[in-house]
Order: sequence, then C-alpha cells, then structure tokens
Amino acid sequence: MDLLITVSFIDELWHEQIKFSHGFLRDILQPSFGSYFYWLVLLSAFVYSLEVIFPWRRNQKRIRKDFFLDSFYMFFNMFIIHFLGFKFISSFSEKSFRELLEFVNMGWLLGDRLINLPIILHLLVLFMLRDFIQWWIHRLLHKSDTLWEFHKVHHSVEEMGYAAHLRYHWVETVIYNSLQFIPLGVLGFTLNEYLSVFIISILIGHLNHANIRLPLGPLKYLFNNPQMHIWHHTKGLPKQFEKGCNFGLSLSCWDYLFGTAYIPEDGQENKLGFKGLKDFPKNFLSQILYGFGKKKADRK
Ligand SMILES: [Zn+2]
Ligand SMILES: [Zn+2]
Repeated sequence: MDLLITVSFIDELWHEQIKFSHGFLRDILQPSFGSYFYWLVLLSAFVYSLEVIFPWRRNQKRIRKDFFLDSFYMFFNMFIIHFLGFKFISSFSEKSFRELLEFVNMGWLLGDRLINLPIILHLLVLFMLRDFIQWWIHRLLHKSDTLWEFHKVHHSVEEMGYAAHLRYHWVETVIYNSLQFIPLGVLGFTLNEYLSVFIISILIGHLNHANIRLPLGPLKYLFNNPQMHIWHHTKGLPKQFEKGCNFGLSLSCWDYLFGTAYIPEDGQENKLGFKGLKDFPKNFLSQILYGFGKKKADRK
C-alpha cells in the first residue's frame, strides 16, 4: 500500500516535471510577454549595454575573462538544469513537507492566509521572504566546508561581469530550491507569482555583478549593489570575514542587520577569488565535478 502511494506520488511529480519542461520549450518557440527565456535575454542585453557604455573598471575588456564560460553557465543553470529535473526535486521537497505536516496533524499551517493581501503586497512579501531565506542559505554555503567546495565555482570569477551572477554549481540549485520552496510553497504562492519575483531578482543579481558603479545613496542599506557585492568576491578579507561578508542576494539590509556588511573602501580594483584559485579547474565539466572530491576547505 505504502509502496503504491509512493509510486503514484513520484508519478505525479514526474508528470509535473514533464509539463514544466514542455512549458520551457513553448517559452522559447513561442515568444510572449510571459516568456521567461526572452526576459533573461532582454535583461542580459540591457545590463551588458550598461557595462559597455558606463564601465566601472575601464581597463577590463568588454569580452572579459570567462565571458563565454559564464554565458554558458547562465543558460545551463537557468534552463538545462530545470529541464533535466529541477522541478521534480523542488516539488518533491515541498510536497513531502506538506505531507509531513498533515501527518503530524499540523495541516492547519498549510492555509493560504497571505492570499487575501493585495497583489503588490503579496509579491513584496514573497520577494522579501525569498531573499531572506536565500541570505541564510548563502551564509550556509560559506560556513559549511563541504558546501563551500561547491560554492567555490561562483567565487572562481576573476573578472566581474553581469553573467558571473549565474556561474554556480548545479548543487546550489538543488539546495536553494529545495530549502526555499518548502516555506514559500507552504505559504501558498503560485508559480507565476514566483516567476515574476524571480525576474526582478535576476535583474538585481545581474546588476550586482556588472562592471558598473551604481550609487544608490541611502537605498544602499536596502538594496545590494556592485560596490558591495565586489567585496563578497574579494580575496584575502580580514580574519573576522574569513568565511564571507555581504551575503545578500537582492537586498543588503540583512547584512546590515546581522553585522555581516563590509565595504571598507571603493573595491574597484580588488583581487577576486580565493586562496588556491590557480589550482581550481578552468572548464565547465571539471568545475561541476569538483566538490564531489575529498578536498578540505582552506580559506586562510
Ligand atoms: Zn558566496
Ligand atoms: Zn556573486
């Protein structure tokens, strides 16, 4: 009996995955306003033109080091991995969590209480909650020696540009999506709402990694920005920030609130990476296999 339930559960999730993958294909073949693929292309072209017209580091080439590698990562992490089964994994964690809550008679937590909020407020709650959860996950990627080995892919960027935003190991997709879909799914957000917030966070993430200066005035205490995020990628930080600083993805307020913000000066020419970067694999395949080895983290 239990086995039958498990099989139908997996079957249901698998069908969801197939539907999701077909949706992605349709997105590419039939461009529309809601076409996520074309949003990514449009936002990337917009932020790249800002880099070309208003470069922060003027001596950095337009086609910077690893430009094509990062562009490939962008499409791999945004599309191919989703196509290969990410939806299956995130639905699995969300649905298992829902079933667990019902099993322990806590199904009342699964209400759609936020659904009554005006849509803008609803999206704002989703945006802030998602970013806060991601902030904690990002901290975890730095604190845990095992996870740091995977997160090194993102920190192996030596010259920053917008596409570096989406250079990360696929294991991060699994961790971020499994952990964030549990609370978000339970609160009753739809996939469309999630995607609209996702597009905004892609724009902010692209800007944070871009070779541009973005003076935000007092808004810098709320939004992450390139002058702040460059310190997150900087090599040789003081001991206090040996395991990272400026963990914010879209918002910077969490770092200011929790004392992890660090912007001692203009970081325009900072050396990026981590100790031992010269021995880190240089190509996509070796990088995505890296992290499964037995190496121990050494960040000093
Ligand atoms: Zn990081
Ligand atoms: Zn980054």
